[in-house]
Amino acid sequence: MPNTFFSTERSAIPLATKEYRGRFAPSPSGLLHFGSLIAALASYLDAKHHHGKWLVRIEDIDPPREKIGASQAILTTLEAFGLHWDEQVLYQSQQTQRYNQVLYDLATQKLTYHCQCTRAQIKADGGIYQGRCKTLNLPKQNNAIRLINHFGINQFNDLIQGSVTCDQALAQEDFILKRKDGLFAYQLAVVVDDIFQDINHVIRGCDLLEPTARQLSFFATLKQTPPQYGHIPVASSAQGFKLSKQNKAQAIDNNHPQPALIAALVFLGQATEKEMINASIEEIINWAIKHWQRDKIPKTTEIVIA
Ligand SMILES: [Zn+2]
Repeated sequence: MPNTFFSTERSAIPLATKEYRGRFAPSPSGLLHFGSLIAALASYLDAKHHHGKWLVRIEDIDPPREKIGASQAILTTLEAFGLHWDEQVLYQSQQTQRYNQVLYDLATQKLTYHCQCTRAQIKADGGIYQGRCKTLNLPKQNNAIRLINHFGINQFNDLIQGSVTCDQALAQEDFILKRKDGLFAYQLAVVVDDIFQDINHVIRGCDLLEPTARQLSFFATLKQTPPQYGHIPVASSAQGFKLSKQNKAQAIDNNHPQPALIAALVFLGQATEKEMINASIEEIINWAIKHWQRDKIPKTTEIVIA
């Protein structure tokens, strides 16, 4: 196979003068809830305020966790909230060939190895993978693929949170690119797709702060320019749980989206007006694009909501 991925010609235009390209990338493990609406809205408004493109990518690489019909339901909700995407929706389940090509290229350059370790073994080693299988030359069958992490980046400047430092041991770990069960790992898919879609701005929740360090190391391994990242606070319930599909946070109402949309703007520290509740979704969104202020987003990783 030719080494197509690494040799892809990148534009020589500096990032600042390139068109803004952002994205929202939900996984179809459930319906869109208030927490994911905030992430969708923030990434949309930031892109549109900067006259950019906003893409949607469905991260459906984990079939066992997928809920039937969730992809379509998520897209329907985005439309109901006036969040209309540019270009075609990208489904990660259709990117298999691309992911395998990258794994092949990395293996050719001896930047990966196979690992047989179980979760229990890694836990016994202190919870951080110590490279136990690095020199064992294990076969592909029934083993995971790990990246030889030469970069171990653990610090970056976040558009919202400022300077972020992640756990160094975790950032230096040889992380998994393909799982033992044959499923592609999130880190592989997300970076390959951000490169493929030419994404240069990623606005998402603070639950993805730590993975950002790994993604930056992976971008460096692939000799590609990473996007600029901005992490918004995650919404958690009064009980201290992150609002997510797992704890069955209330689904939002497509037929009456105004209250949730206004609540999401308030959560993001944006100005709102009383009359908004009677305005159309289009009017609210257009107003919010015009008045979007990234620096008003709270610089905290979590906000407890009622
Ligand atoms: Zn191992």
